[in-house]
Amino acid sequence: MQDKYGRTITYMRLSVTDLCNLRCRYCMPEEGVEKLTHPEMLTEDEMVDAVQAAADLGISKIRITGGEPLVKKNILSVCGRIGQIEGIEETAITTNGTLLPTLAVPLRKAGISRINISLDTLDPDKYAFMTRRGRFEEAWAGVMSALEAGFDKVKLNAVLIGGFNDDEIEEMVDLTRQYPLDMRFIELMPMLQDDEFGQSAHISGDEVLRRVPDLQPLSEQTLMSGQVARMYRLPGARGRVGLIDPLSHTFCSACNRIRLTADGKLKPCLHSSQEISIKGLDIDSMREKMREAIMAKPQEHGELNAGHRSEAGRQMNQIGG
Ligand code: SAM
Ligand code: SF4
Repeated sequence: MQDKYGRTITYMRLSVTDLCNLRCRYCMPEEGVEKLTHPEMLTEDEMVDAVQAAADLGISKIRITGGEPLVKKNILSVCGRIGQIEGIEETAITTNGTLLPTLAVPLRKAGISRINISLDTLDPDKYAFMTRRGRFEEAWAGVMSALEAGFDKVKLNAVLIGGFNDDEIEEMVDLTRQYPLDMRFIELMPMLQDDEFGQSAHISGDEVLRRVPDLQPLSEQTLMSGQVARMYRLPGARGRVGLIDPLSHTFCSACNRIRLTADGKLKPCLHSSQEISIKGLDIDSMREKMREAIMAKPQEHGELNAGHRSEAGRQMNQIGG
């Protein structure tokens, strides 16, 4: 289905939980995290109905996210049922990877074809600092498990943070020589009220190009619908490098997505507080609300920069990225 600005919406991000086993500093606070209560959350059947409603409107790709989707007890059942819905051509997942050593193979069997793993650093001490409670070794074991499980594509996502991981750019890009994975660098988005990162933490993907001049642009980097990353490759490397810059190179004109939160709120735009609830509705009413959400997509998001926080009105773990 097309929105008011002629963009065809083919992609929905489905957050299955707001809970997480980590506490990344740019995503959620350490303490005082308000949990959704059970009755507030979409049930498994409601999630399946919502994806069916989305498929009826032409959405063919679902990305399962969170919070941390792999802490959800029924995650394999949710993935399996969604993957079987007619019209859904691709079911992908975004995870911090720490639970992949036991779940990579079952997820593959449940029909997940693509996996994105968030990994901001290759240094165990820095990993522990940024995630507040994570162990790098677990996340890295997750990356290896994903590669061994044979997913179509494994992508690593690192949020670029000046003064934290910009000194690791070369090493992270180098991973694409050794492994068949895409390394993507994402600009830090100011989401939290108490943002502990100053102006200098917000650096764009251009810093990656400056530090690794050998990167060659790939032809698919022209902005096609839904393409958010500028793509590059090191000569002879097995994997690619992607730059995702929602602040400095906005991709609103190519935006092809809507989001559904774990408590059943459709978000037409990540950086807008507008939400449309589908909790408790039957599938026909869900489809109508989804139509409404697609038509409500703004042409572009409001001001967003180091000095101007996102107007999302939620933390990232409550949206799904
Ligand atoms: N827990 C899973 C994970 O970390 O991959 C899925 C949910 S997480 C909210 C989804 C993505 O949002 C992650 O790649 C994370 O790095 C990104 N993210 C969270 N807060 C962000 C911020 N302030 N700026 C940029 N990306 C952010
Ligand atoms: Fe959890 Fe992902 Fe947010 Fe980190 S980015 S706190 S892993 S939801």
